[in-house]
Amino acid sequence: MKFIILTSFLVLSYMVSAQTDQKLYDIIDAVSADRIKHDDKTLVDFGTRHTLSDTVSNTRGIGAARRWIKSEFEKISKDCNNCLDVFYQKNFVKKGTGERIVKDVWINNVVAVQRGTKYPNRYIIMSGDIDSRVSDPNNYTSDAPGANDNASGMAGTIEAARVLSKYKFENSIVYLGLAGEEQGLFGGKGMAEYAKEHDWDIIGILNNDMIGNISGVDGVIDNRTFRIFSEPVPITETEQERKNRRKYGGEVDGISRQLARYIYKTTKTYMPEMNPMMVYRLDRFARGGHHRPFNDVGFAGVRIMEAHENYNHQHQDVRTENGIDYGDTFDQVNFDYAKKLTAVNAINLASIASAPPAPKTVAIGGMVEPSTKLKWDKVDGAVGYEIYWRDTTSPTWDNSRYVGDVTEFTLEGIVIDNFYFGVASVGADGFESPVVFPNQILRD
Ligand SMILES: [Zn+2]
Repeated sequence: MKFIILTSFLVLSYMVSAQTDQKLYDIIDAVSADRIKHDDKTLVDFGTRHTLSDTVSNTRGIGAARRWIKSEFEKISKDCNNCLDVFYQKNFVKKGTGERIVKDVWINNVVAVQRGTKYPNRYIIMSGDIDSRVSDPNNYTSDAPGANDNASGMAGTIEAARVLSKYKFENSIVYLGLAGEEQGLFGGKGMAEYAKEHDWDIIGILNNDMIGNISGVDGVIDNRTFRIFSEPVPITETEQERKNRRKYGGEVDGISRQLARYIYKTTKTYMPEMNPMMVYRLDRFARGGHHRPFNDVGFAGVRIMEAHENYNHQHQDVRTENGIDYGDTFDQVNFDYAKKLTAVNAINLASIASAPPAPKTVAIGGMVEPSTKLKWDKVDGAVGYEIYWRDTTSPTWDNSRYVGDVTEFTLEGIVIDNFYFGVASVGADGFESPVVFPNQILRD
């Protein structure tokens, strides 16, 4: 009997591991720390990339930096038979719009779109920032290397484009360089509005902001852990949706949180040496990042970043004081770590871009019954669906069941009161959409 149990356990664990895809391991291996390092250095060498800095020079300032980023995307595109649409998305911001806009400025984002073969208007986005700053946020002339904040995220985004442009995906992938971050998240705001105006169906944005520091001001050195910040529920929800939560739950199950859980799971599956740390908040305490303007208009979005920050190396004039080195300099960045976090992004972009859309509506019922019923709309392109559930106190989708190509299912013996539930679509290659938390109630 013992032998049989052991055997079936082995069969089961084989089946679980057989669900992984070699393509994602190849993508991890293809990400290069050397290329990220080289690109980071190139960005640092523009002296300052402050949003209000020089735009005419070809060697110094944000103008030179964005032209170089655009030319890199164009080079990558040339190598993949023009597989990327590369363009500037421009936003004019008037002097005085915020305390940090001390003169009129054009904020130019650099956009590279790898068009999806089946769902060209569905987008999964990876972003980094172009701009940098020193101690005084309005000083746009001093050297502001911004090697970690945020040349690391920008270089990682360019490298992800290099690696993923070798493949074709059903959904579009956007590689995005955003400006105006340090001046008040202006680039992200402009880009999110552009996406709304152009009816982009955004699956989510993975905003990378500081992915290269492993030596924290807290004394911890850690090249395995990283943080995924996500807001609990969308700020755009209706009053009715807010009220419904008291009855049906969902306080920690917004669309950005499901994206965070997706990244957590993909990382644990393909890069088990890493420690993804979900943080249940929009961003760090009272601080911001470029996923927020996307969240502001109702898109899913998370911030991916190092676990241990070093404040001596952020937003600081480059100097030595009392024996302490200040400044966000190139020598402080760990590129093996930046490579790992770039790979985390790349496998999640690839996985989401390979998956069918999630069901739009998921209905749930089962009040005063010993079972839970779920019903969802059929998704074109899905070969089946996976139902997930978890204890109400668990951060991750710990239980799941593949139910095949049906649009309703009853989980016998599972009492609705004691768990949270969700449904994901599954494509022919096994790639899954993010989980959808029920958004309708089934009444019989
Ligand atoms: Zn910053």
